[in-house]
Amino acid sequence: MTKKNALMAGRRGLVMGVANERSLAWGIAKSLHEASAELAFTYQGEALGRRVRPLAESLDSDFLVEADVTSEESLDAVFAAVGERWGGLDFLVHAIAFSDKDELKGKYLNTSRENFLRTLEISCFSFTDVCRRAAALMSGGGSLLTLTYAGAERVMPHYNVMGVAKAALEASVKYLAADLGGDNIRVNAISAGPVKTLASSAIGDFRYILKWNELNAPLQRNITIEEVGGAGLYLLSDLSSGVTGEVHHVDCGYHVVGMKRVDAPDISTV
Ligand code: NAP
Repeated sequence: MTKKNALMAGRRGLVMGVANERSLAWGIAKSLHEASAELAFTYQGEALGRRVRPLAESLDSDFLVEADVTSEESLDAVFAAVGERWGGLDFLVHAIAFSDKDELKGKYLNTSRENFLRTLEISCFSFTDVCRRAAALMSGGGSLLTLTYAGAERVMPHYNVMGVAKAALEASVKYLAADLGGDNIRVNAISAGPVKTLASSAIGDFRYILKWNELNAPLQRNITIEEVGGAGLYLLSDLSSGVTGEVHHVDCGYHVVGMKRVDAPDISTV
């Protein structure tokens, strides 16, 4: 893929959460590459590694490390590899979330203890964990970015425990921004509108959610991963040097809307 500008020239960053070419992290990685950043990628499991390797290679990266964010040893190995190869780190993208899909339908009320803890561990604690590890490599300052969703702010159908995890993730962004600001390390989140990906396909009635957003967002369409990429580049580069602790919405404006558009059609299932 082509490099269009030098905004991120000389900057090195770790992208966590590319599963395939539909992933939001992939949209961000493409923007970073176009801006001349050097990238490393994590993947989970060898099957995913086989899928991510050619994607990484298309962005001139041969730096792939396996990472399971529930494992201390796995994360120790990831950040040791980054330290060994690069000696430092300028930015990190965290695009990781998980919940049992059987609990992303029906009522939040019925969330099990086991899935609550697992969802919060993978979707929220993992960001704090990788921020601490990444910050230790950011002696010259840096930028850390995670992905969240409006289900943190308001009730969305079927988002359930994931909404609770994203609310905690957004609160973490603020506390981490305060902890790391003195080292010139910024911490921000993008609240993305719905996009069809592997992770989102676990959410009940997701096609309905996509259609509702398309019909009712001010821009009257859904977002693309390239638009998430543009905002990611802004938050990871010096363009946003005065911005930290922010949750930036990339959702075609859906978050400002209080009600269905009067001229939007009534939809049942799509
Ligand atoms: P995706 O392509 O499926 O990416 C999710 C990634 O999380 C996958 O690479 C997945 O790896 C990884 N992951 C899950 N558990 C992990 C673990 N224990 N250790 C390491 N990695 C793990 O889906 P996506 O939609 O782009 O999701 C990226 C982020 O964007 C998530 O935080 C999601 O909540 C957020 N987001 C998505 C939307 C949307 O509509 N798609 C909207 C707003 C926010 P495996 O495939 O191996 O599990």
